[in-house]
Amino acid sequence: MTPPQPDTTNRPTPQAPAVEPLTAEDFGRRLERATTAAAEAGLAGLVITPGPDLAHLTGYQPVRTERFTGLFLTPGADPLLVVPTLERGDAEAAPGAPAFRIADWTDGTDPYRAALARLGSNAPYGVSDGTWALHLLALQSAVPGSRFAALTDALPMLRAVKDADELARLTAAGAAADETYRRILQVPFAGRTEDDIAADLAALLLELGHSQVDFTVVGSGPNGANPHHEAGGRTLVTGDTVVLDFGGLKDGYGSDTSRTVHLGPDPDPEVLRVHEVVRHAQQAAFEAVRPGIACQEIDRVARAVIEEAGYGAYFIHRTGHGIGVTTHEPPYMIEGEQQELVPGMCFSIEPGVYLPGRFGVRIEDIVTVTETGGRRLNNTSRDLAIVH
Ligand code: ZN
Ligand code: ZN
Ligand code: ZN
Repeated sequence: MTPPQPDTTNRPTPQAPAVEPLTAEDFGRRLERATTAAAEAGLAGLVITPGPDLAHLTGYQPVRTERFTGLFLTPGADPLLVVPTLERGDAEAAPGAPAFRIADWTDGTDPYRAALARLGSNAPYGVSDGTWALHLLALQSAVPGSRFAALTDALPMLRAVKDADELARLTAAGAAADETYRRILQVPFAGRTEDDIAADLAALLLELGHSQVDFTVVGSGPNGANPHHEAGGRTLVTGDTVVLDFGGLKDGYGSDTSRTVHLGPDPDPEVLRVHEVVRHAQQAAFEAVRPGIACQEIDRVARAVIEEAGYGAYFIHRTGHGIGVTTHEPPYMIEGEQQELVPGMCFSIEPGVYLPGRFGVRIEDIVTVTETGGRRLNNTSRDLAIVH
């Protein structure tokens, strides 16, 4: 189909260069940085369990099971990864393995024993958010008096500032998501279900280099008024406003973008008005990005535009979230988050208006903080595209 107006931003993306694999030295630097940041935050150390923190710091991504795996980072000692003996080979094959020591435990022995030497201070330890309660409670009872704090609370900036290599990956993931959007505008919408369009989005993300699809939101008509509607069996009809929000991981880093489209020409005047308000809110929040301003300021700027237009009560979602080795992570762009923006941070700006029973509009880009302002990693047109 042809877009409703001339649109120079919806050109095909040139082939992105292949990314270089991370080296043991890269992981060594990350481990050092994390240990230093923990000490600066008043923590006695970090306990990192399988998930995004461990993947970021070591490149090791075991399946999460009831068997304990944990990385212990404490100032003045080598990083120590405790693993089940039967998984030791996998851990040794991790790209970051030369940068840490490995201790293993066999089935039938105490999995937490090796950790005891690294725990015991009166200061709290930062622990990965997703640590199983089973393991955390066992560590707590193994070391009486030990205290733990979730990393989102204790060290929200652990993975927030990206280096050049991470930025290249996030940029490439954003470009692949942008190309997914350009191509989804070409598929038929009318008479198909949200699930059909969602399947197209997932197939495009994979075709364009993603290894994992995290979400494919197709919120048509009244479903668009629920910001967390995914996709369902509703059949799309002419006159629908449709929120599209999709993303996943490409080369280990996340994409996440939203655009709102309209099925058929002649959108209702209120759809056009709301879309314009959201577009202005998104633009204003983007223009506010610069080092030194607080995360909550990004939310305030977007919210002020929507409130001034009379839709404040319908902006029921935060303005944004961090992104990196996961598609949603701290810090968040929301009232109360006083963390200041730092060059290299990457996060979403995704204001929306959600009118119950009618429709929703959301426009979302990933933005990175530069030395002087912000740079978008999503660059497709933010006009209301017409689909058929
Ligand atoms: Zn959400
Ligand atoms: Zn999104
Ligand atoms: Zn998002």
